[in-house]
Amino acid sequence: MSFESLGLAEPLLKAIAEAGYTIPTPIQAQAIPAVLSGGDLLAGAQTGTGKTAGFTLPLLHKLAVNPAPQGAKRHIRALILTPTRELAAQVEESVRVYGKYLPLRSMVMFGGVGMKPQIDALRRGVDILVATPGRLLDHHQQGTLDLGHVEYFVLDEADRMLDMGFIHDIRRVLAIVPPKKQSLLFSATFSDEIKALADRLLNAPQMIEVARRNTTAETISQKIHPVDRDQKKELLTHLIKSQNWHQVLVFTRMKHGANRLVEYLEKQGITAMAIHGNKSQSARTRALAEFKAGDLQVLVATDIAARGIDIDQLPHVINYELPNVAEDYVHRIGRTGRAGAEGEAISLVCVDEEGFLADIEKLIKRPIAREVVQGFEPDPNAKAEPIQLGRRTLHGAPGGGGRGGASGGGRPGGGGGGGGRAAPRNSGSPRGGDSRGNGDKRGGGGANRGSAPVARDRTR
Ligand code: AMP
Repeated sequence: MSFESLGLAEPLLKAIAEAGYTIPTPIQAQAIPAVLSGGDLLAGAQTGTGKTAGFTLPLLHKLAVNPAPQGAKRHIRALILTPTRELAAQVEESVRVYGKYLPLRSMVMFGGVGMKPQIDALRRGVDILVATPGRLLDHHQQGTLDLGHVEYFVLDEADRMLDMGFIHDIRRVLAIVPPKKQSLLFSATFSDEIKALADRLLNAPQMIEVARRNTTAETISQKIHPVDRDQKKELLTHLIKSQNWHQVLVFTRMKHGANRLVEYLEKQGITAMAIHGNKSQSARTRALAEFKAGDLQVLVATDIAARGIDIDQLPHVINYELPNVAEDYVHRIGRTGRAGAEGEAISLVCVDEEGFLADIEKLIKRPIAREVVQGFEPDPNAKAEPIQLGRRTLHGAPGGGGRGGASGGGRPGGGGGGGGRAAPRNSGSPRGGDSRGNGDKRGGGGANRGSAPVARDRTR
């Protein structure tokens, strides 16, 4: 199948060809005709599948072939909501790239930066707005944003939005956009809450799903290096130096851990920067730009900050620490092997994390190969220690009393070290970290989605 056969307008085909795309990815092959046909869409796809072009291309096409009346004031006709600033910026960048030969104006809007330039841009007129929910609502409350002409509405990475406690904000946005519109919902996973949101938002949607839920891309080779906890830094340095890696994305669970690791790597002569919720927007943008340009060897990220990072064909993703929420593993390694390119995901696992690993293997339904690196053999007699996550203590070892629960907190229906609790997350008590870091979520207001026993780490 070709992009031409999908019936996209000539200016889009030209931009696609310049971007170097020759064939549509599976999600694009399904989503583009579905959106062009005019109905609502519920799409299951994670980042790396080409989903962004899957919705931006047909939207651009529809906006171009049905232009607003000439001479009339420009109104926002397409609204795309994303959970994080980075993702908003990347989606809008895609809109610009694909729409470069069309007379349409796009804008990205998120918090952490001044309102004034955004107000000025809105006044000048925008056709396509890509925004995070918090700042969008701020503008609406101040009367600087008119969403009364929205014809197309996209919720991108809806599952992550709910994880981040945006359900109330989403509801508020739904209340201010016109009821008659074409709506698209993209999500990597389908929890009951996503289904409930889809029921509310979508009208007789077409449903498409590409990679099976919670499966990891076939093109990613995954490996575990068992290692002692205090040898991880050395092992990481050894791997980077001995294999001569130049673009490595490294994950830690906590922002402090990310900072410490960056300091250590710098001392070893490896250029590194951290990207997490405590960093200013400009620091995050700079780190990402340097990393993408290949000027920075290592980018150390926490899970939420990394969401939405889009780097083509990233060769190496390293889990310096395994995530305590198994599903994050899938999201993390989705950074590599993107859109058919091959990638390698390596996890450095110490005895404390064996339980996390069991949860991950259960989720992805396959064991991950273990390979001890010579000189870094773990002590077979090492005892597992609990893992400190902010004010919480987690037991990552098997039978350790619950990976996700707060120590002494008494998890409802919890107990035991059994796996499989990865998907639902409790965003009932956000502690503010995300709000500064990513999606402009204003204080409180997290949706407590009841049944989820897993307390998400909100400090990243
Ligand atoms: P996404 O899943 O939207 O984050 O896209 C993943 C990556 O795939 C992006 O870097 C895109 O530039 C790239 N991409 C999207 N569509 C195609 C395509 N048809 N052919 C090659 N690369 C693509």
